[in-house]
Amino acid sequence: MICLGIESTAHTFGAGICELSPETGFKILSDSKDIYRAPEGSGIHPREAARHHVEVCSDVIRQSLETAGKKISDIDFIAYSAGPGLGPCLRVGAVAARSLASYFDKELVPVNHAIGHIELGKFLGDLHDPLVLLISGGHTAIAGNSPDGWKIFGETLDLTLGQLLDQLGRYFGLSSPAGSKIEVLASEFKFNEKEMPHLPYTIKGNDVSYSGLLSAAKDAVAIGQPKKAVSFSVQEAAFAMLTEATERALSFTDRSELLVTGGVAANQRLSRMLQTMCDSRGVRLSVIPRQFAGDCGAQIAAAGFLFRENGYTVRAEKALVRQSWRIDRVQLGSGSKRKRAVA
Ligand code: AMP
Ligand code: MG
Repeated sequence: MICLGIESTAHTFGAGICELSPETGFKILSDSKDIYRAPEGSGIHPREAARHHVEVCSDVIRQSLETAGKKISDIDFIAYSAGPGLGPCLRVGAVAARSLASYFDKELVPVNHAIGHIELGKFLGDLHDPLVLLISGGHTAIAGNSPDGWKIFGETLDLTLGQLLDQLGRYFGLSSPAGSKIEVLASEFKFNEKEMPHLPYTIKGNDVSYSGLLSAAKDAVAIGQPKKAVSFSVQEAAFAMLTEATERALSFTDRSELLVTGGVAANQRLSRMLQTMCDSRGVRLSVIPRQFAGDCGAQIAAAGFLFRENGYTVRAEKALVRQSWRIDRVQLGSGSKRKRAVA
């Protein structure tokens, strides 16, 4: 089976082609994308990002077919990111998927974007039943699958980890997404305790809170503390909170595998912190390869197989989007062909 996956939840318009077969297993044949860059010092503007997606969508899809060496007639079905995400952006991907499916008479499968990050990570890491740390622009959650569906064992109470880093970057005058630029600034800090700001470390139950951390970091910059020191300190505090909550969830669920996925999984410092924690518990850590950490079409194609098997196929006129679609509301697992409602 060959699936074309279309992603458009936020900054990224992506198209990826994946193959799943009993003989050769899972393969990514192509993964093309084009990312909307917000003006320096500002965040994502949903309508502007959607305009970007409209402009690039046909080239990105064409490029993904060319790289895979496939024609549209070789594609068995089309999966698209139905949510969660920004409405105007989601609708561009849904319309592109719907048009292709109608014109070329293909099956159409709506996919939950977060499960896309997880499925791709499971395929690439050869994982079976991991605890998942999903950290991106739209998510900060510790989740695990159960017979009743996905359960959340901890999450952010306010900002996601990606938003924390992007908003700090914006305050520095950088354009979003800024996580990788904050990582570079933090790595250039020459350790000097006097330059490090005092930042709150907030865990409530097994949930984390980042809004106070962002305010304190901005205050520190406002009184002249160096950006490198502030970036370093924010990373240390934010990542340590999440590592602590993840360790508790691992202990509670007794899992032996941890998958880290989503755009912030590209951060090397966070990986090192989690590796130390996992080593001490004998847990296998699998961090999604950097190339596939952020939003991409391959993640939607990867999840497409699971959603199709679970009866999510829809007619084109029912190809809706859902801006808030939590993973603990996604019905999966039985593999039954029952019709599932997306919206
Ligand atoms: P996603 O929503 O999965 O595409 O992830 C995008 C988020 O990942 C944005 O908030 C980025 O700032 C963040 N990100 C990307 N690379 C890094 C990195 N190296 N370190 C921290 N955050 C990153
Ligand atoms: Mg994402």
